[in-house]
Amino acid sequence: MVIFRCLLRGHCCKKYWIPVTHLDLLRIELYTSIKIYPKMLNLYEVSLYEDLSYPHVVFGGEKYFLALNSKEDGSCLFLSPNGRCSIHPYKPLVCRFYPFVYSEKEDNIEIELNDNAIGECPGIILNGRPIPEDVKKSLSILARARILELKMWDDVAMQWNASSYSKKNFDDVGSIFIDFIMKFAREDMKKLREMKLWIP
Ligand code: SF4
Repeated sequence: MVIFRCLLRGHCCKKYWIPVTHLDLLRIELYTSIKIYPKMLNLYEVSLYEDLSYPHVVFGGEKYFLALNSKEDGSCLFLSPNGRCSIHPYKPLVCRFYPFVYSEKEDNIEIELNDNAIGECPGIILNGRPIPEDVKKSLSILARARILELKMWDDVAMQWNASSYSKKNFDDVGSIFIDFIMKFAREDMKKLREMKLWIP
């Protein structure tokens, strides 16, 4: 079915916005020298993405998806001019699946090629063979961690949304928001480590 090798053309890093969780942001802070600050983040109105099922955060009474900010040309703020991700080893989990997707079928994780990536990502070679087992195995481990992280992110987002800060605009409480979610991220990282599901 497929062979994939990233050719560093950065199509995916230019085309898609990147939703992040509190744990994605903690990984960046912990393992790079980058401190997360409000201008690194962007908010996407939930009402514009009805098909997307994802935890949301509230600011000024409006629901938003939390994402990485992008540069003026629309590319991710971490995309280097040479096409490389400047935080590659610690990039958000969502970035680590492309050009594959996972789905949960009862207790199983299924890994498939992302249909949208065919014809878009130049690193995909369709050769009529199945996705290699080692790729499936490592993405399945990642998917299990991702599923748990999203549940944790949902809990944190709900706590934020129930707080009085959520009535204010992101421009006014962005730093408070980051401190708030990072506190939970450190606690959740400990839990994931105990379960041996922490992904650096
Ligand atoms: S974090 Fe890295 S891999 Fe993810 S979109 Fe940005 S540059 Fe691309």
